[in-house]
Amino acid sequence: MHPTNDPSLRSFLEISSNSDFPIQNLPFGVFSKTAEDLHRIGVRIGDYVLDLHALSGEGWLSGEHIGNGDVFRRPVLNDFMALGKQAWEEARTIISELLREDNAKLRDDKAMREEVLLPIADVQMHLPASIGDYTDFYASKYHATNVGTMFRGPDNALQPNYLHLPVGYHGRASSVVVSGTDLHRPMGQTIAPDADSPAFGPCKLLDYELEVGVFVGTGNELGSPMTISRARDSIFGLVLMNDWSARDIQKWEYVPLGPFLSKNFGTSISPWIVSMTALEPFLVDGEAQDPEPLPYLKDNQPGGFNLHLEALVQTERMASPYRITQTNMKYLYWTIYQQLTHHAVTGCNLRPGDLFGTGTVSGPSKESRACLLELTWRGQEPLDLPSGESRKFLLDGDRLIIKGWGQANGYNIGFGEVIGTILPAVESQAKAFQHP
Ligand code: MN
Repeated sequence: MHPTNDPSLRSFLEISSNSDFPIQNLPFGVFSKTAEDLHRIGVRIGDYVLDLHALSGEGWLSGEHIGNGDVFRRPVLNDFMALGKQAWEEARTIISELLREDNAKLRDDKAMREEVLLPIADVQMHLPASIGDYTDFYASKYHATNVGTMFRGPDNALQPNYLHLPVGYHGRASSVVVSGTDLHRPMGQTIAPDADSPAFGPCKLLDYELEVGVFVGTGNELGSPMTISRARDSIFGLVLMNDWSARDIQKWEYVPLGPFLSKNFGTSISPWIVSMTALEPFLVDGEAQDPEPLPYLKDNQPGGFNLHLEALVQTERMASPYRITQTNMKYLYWTIYQQLTHHAVTGCNLRPGDLFGTGTVSGPSKESRACLLELTWRGQEPLDLPSGESRKFLLDGDRLIIKGWGQANGYNIGFGEVIGTILPAVESQAKAFQHP
């Protein structure tokens, strides 16, 4: 066990026992103070943010691997990510020690505490990294089987490649947004089941996809693939992700090259990147893999994560969110290490701050279906909500929330949440295109 994961550690800050952010978590993110524009790197602890920009400016963050702490006075985490696992763990160890209840250094320095510890209510969160590339996988066999059954029938649900490689597509990095960013319903081409030609208009089948986002840390050089064991040290950490999906646009456009505009209007992530060190207690064996993967994808170590994930919806008429999905990251067929290794096997270079999504994390049960396409079986079985409303897909004004956490050794390691609300399609745009 890494010393920073010791369950007996306590912070001098008061942290409720069910907080997502005890001293054993210490996720990294980027924030600004309410009254200024400067983007600062910080660490979440309970209901506070530890300002690493200020802390390193005072000379409190330095070491063999992180140098003088300059990397913490940047607007994004990319340079810190590039330093590698030893630097990430060195910083984590210094921060953990500073926040411990039995260490007087910060605890008893009132002026310093006021400078570097900010209430979470006084900050605004931003994207944690400059995301050069974003890739989305399709790693839950349960999700792929459900979707395949809907479109091709149960006998041909999985394509012949599915059990041999982690299927994915290159996504769009420019529209990855941080939690709290609302998105307009996309416009696009769709074709009605009985129509001869497509029509243009607002998406009618708007969906969420509950996924886990993976931030690449060190990556690899062009032409130099990574092994599974190197992949294990290359991942900086995980976030929650909502891969918003326009199902009617997707259905018309995806042949033969896969999703394009149906996925590029917005992908939401939670702001705090939980480190792989904090997630160590939740490593478990993933789903059994049969047939055995080819040697480059074979991994003899556990690669699954026992992390509870849920999605909630709140319509404009509802006073509180209502849970519609309960699933677990351990249901993924392909592990994040296999996804990363496969991505780079051609020699494709992955860079610090690159992001990939696991794909919709559906599990074996009905309640674990992690998008509306599956939950309502293409709209054939609408969801009843406590407000008396029902939903086949998301309507304007609907808010979607994803939460996730692991529980071990008497504490939670959580991600917080990723929230987004669907705004109406941009009407002027709709009119301009319909009446040229
Ligand atoms: Mn997806």
